[in-house]
Amino acid sequence: MENVLGLRCIHCGKELPAKTGIFTCPTCGSKDGILDVEYDYKRINRLNTRKQVENSKDFSIFRYHAFLPIQPDTPRPHLRVGWSPLYKPVGLEKSMGMSSLYIKDDGQNPTSSLKDRASVIAVIKAIEEKATTIACSSTGNAASSLAGNAASVGIRTFIFVPSRAPQGKIAQLLIFGANVISVQGSYEDAFHLSAQAIERWGWYNRNAAVNPYLVEGKKTVALEIAEQLQWEVPDWVVLSVGDGCTIAGVGKGFQDLYRAGWIDRLPKLAGVQSEGCCPLVEAFLKDQPWVPSEENTIADSIAVGVPRNPEKALRAVRESNGTMIAVSDEEILAAMGFLGKTSGIFGEPAGVTGIAGLKHLLAQGTIKPSDKVVAIVTGNGLKDVKNAIAAAGKPMRVEPSLTVLIEELKKRGIE
Ligand SMILES: *Cc1c(COP(=O)(O)O)cnc(C)c1O
Ligand SMILES: [Zn+2]
Repeated sequence: MENVLGLRCIHCGKELPAKTGIFTCPTCGSKDGILDVEYDYKRINRLNTRKQVENSKDFSIFRYHAFLPIQPDTPRPHLRVGWSPLYKPVGLEKSMGMSSLYIKDDGQNPTSSLKDRASVIAVIKAIEEKATTIACSSTGNAASSLAGNAASVGIRTFIFVPSRAPQGKIAQLLIFGANVISVQGSYEDAFHLSAQAIERWGWYNRNAAVNPYLVEGKKTVALEIAEQLQWEVPDWVVLSVGDGCTIAGVGKGFQDLYRAGWIDRLPKLAGVQSEGCCPLVEAFLKDQPWVPSEENTIADSIAVGVPRNPEKALRAVRESNGTMIAVSDEEILAAMGFLGKTSGIFGEPAGVTGIAGLKHLLAQGTIKPSDKVVAIVTGNGLKDVKNAIAAAGKPMRVEPSLTVLIEELKKRGIE
């Protein structure tokens, strides 16, 4: 918090103090999560160095405390959030015909998705504001991640999820002791009910598109990518997009490093959605305002027909000279399979949507095979076992007999 100057409306530029209870711009209204946290980049550059960070023994997002909007003395949840591995899987590179492809496996967070980066900040801000209850609506991962991070410090949660949230995520919620409200309707319905309840009971709001501090948590994935690449920024960062908070966070992270003078250029961002639900891709490609869409995709985490952070997301992609693209559910399922097979990394459908999009962008020549690319796997495949099995097919069924096994293997041409 020592480096935070205040909040700035991305819409009208109005500056506001970073104070309790201020979430949105009073001039523009509360619709689109329109505040950004502004830092004193000169001060960061003067008092903090890349070397200090590199020498840090804190292997979590808190190694970047200089870039975080939290008080130094607020108790931190004990779960280790962030510092997920950045791999360069040669098998995957080869199968994609690329020479410099990295995978940031954010399924390796405490509750197995990138959302932990935002939720841990929500919990800390709630503690700073002396809140005893936090609430959010979520397609599933924000929910399970808030529930886990809140459970780690004994804060009560109310979670609103749409009825189609996968079982694995619901199981996490229940194990973490959340009050789970399964809203019989869409994500949009869940969002509205949560907003009403938050107002009615005065709970702390973890809805990432409204609370400006959460994008600050999400941006740490960009800070890590930069550090893990020795501050040599990639040409492209590719990831899936639902509400748009994650891609906005990635953009903000690189912007912050750039403004502090820690990196000397910015990567292009490629945002990927599913064809069955791609309001932001359409808005980007047609250069028109987004319109609500159906939520018709297996990638439940990005089945967001009414995106909550469209402005920040589109701005981040445009400012980076990046692009957006939609892929089919079949391509997403195929990406789960070939990522797993060639790298040993298991992503949920929305977790691998970026990789499905990367394939397209290579084919259309937007991304070159020699470009240095980081694809973020945003969530772990075990969260959604039903779709994983749909992607991978059935196991071989054999009687417990070696003769039968030999026959079955022979049938399949396996020696
Ligand atoms: C939430 C989520 C996304 C998309 O993030 P947005 O901020 O909604 O754009 C992508 N992948 C996974 C696994 C997620 O949980
Ligand atoms: Zn404003």
